[in-house]
Amino acid sequence: MEIKKVGVVGAGVMGIGVGQSLAQNGMEAVLVDISEEVLDRARAEIRKNLRFQGMFQKDAKKEDPATVLGRIHFTTLLEDLGDVDFVVENVPEKWEIKSQIYPKIDAICPERAVFAVNTSCYSIPRVGALTRRPDRVIGMHFMNPVPLKPMVEAIRGHHTSEATIETARQFLRQMGKDFILVNDMPGFVSNRVLMLTINEAVYVLQDGVATPEQVDQLFKTCFGHKMGPLETADLIGLDTILYSIEVLHESYNDSKYRPCPLLKKMVDAGLHGRKNGKGFYDYGIS
Ligand code: NAD
Repeated sequence: MEIKKVGVVGAGVMGIGVGQSLAQNGMEAVLVDISEEVLDRARAEIRKNLRFQGMFQKDAKKEDPATVLGRIHFTTLLEDLGDVDFVVENVPEKWEIKSQIYPKIDAICPERAVFAVNTSCYSIPRVGALTRRPDRVIGMHFMNPVPLKPMVEAIRGHHTSEATIETARQFLRQMGKDFILVNDMPGFVSNRVLMLTINEAVYVLQDGVATPEQVDQLFKTCFGHKMGPLETADLIGLDTILYSIEVLHESYNDSKYRPCPLLKKMVDAGLHGRKNGKGFYDYGIS
């Protein structure tokens, strides 16, 4: 089945990237968030990204940003998801928010629609249990920035059917992406390892062992990583990092996932990283 129309719930860092990627690959997207103000910001961000990418694109696929943006319907109404083939949910990594979305979209969306949970750490059956379609719920951990990352970590929940995995494969192929399919446990593969690394890097900083620049330089020059852990944290969003490590702490009941107090302090102070201009580094006000 070709996927034509996709619901994207949450228009933050990930929802913007998913919506843009869908539209650039010829699909229709319905991008839902809680206010017109957030949607205006999302529209402006996508327009900026398209113009920027256009400057470096020489191929025949280059499209006018207005044509691409025309494939995205920006709305505050979940009811607009009544005829979508597929949903990617990207609301914050907070159970009280995620758990309110699923019963609603389950009632609104067509029975055939597959729900992809773009989560950093939540276990997929926990989300599937909020719906009457746990066999059509799959984890889809997109990488950031979504339009530039060809690989996705997909998570098979306890009830996820083979047909759903096939639909997810087809959906990602239409987006020009592929997946690595793993089994379900909180944090899956990537974030079970990455969140611990980032949290420990913040402890290193808190203990006065090194500056952020020194921490990141060590990973880049000694290990050949493209980005260090603190730059990566700023890219992801420090609030998302904190919520994710809290989910791991609660899920495994293991003190190795206790969030670093400095990370908590920075989130409380509104230092959320690139998305609002300041985290471990200063990005100016965007
Ligand atoms: P974000 O905070 O940037 O965006 C979340 C958006 O959801 C906000 O715009 C918010 O207004 C909106 N929202 C909140 N409640 C809503 C509701 N009831 N209905 C519709 N929209 C609502 O967060 P993000 O970084 O985009 O993360 C989204 C999800 O993706 C999280 O679960 C996160 O763990 C996961 N994720 C994030 C990254 C990353 O690098 N940031 C990578 C992979 C996965």
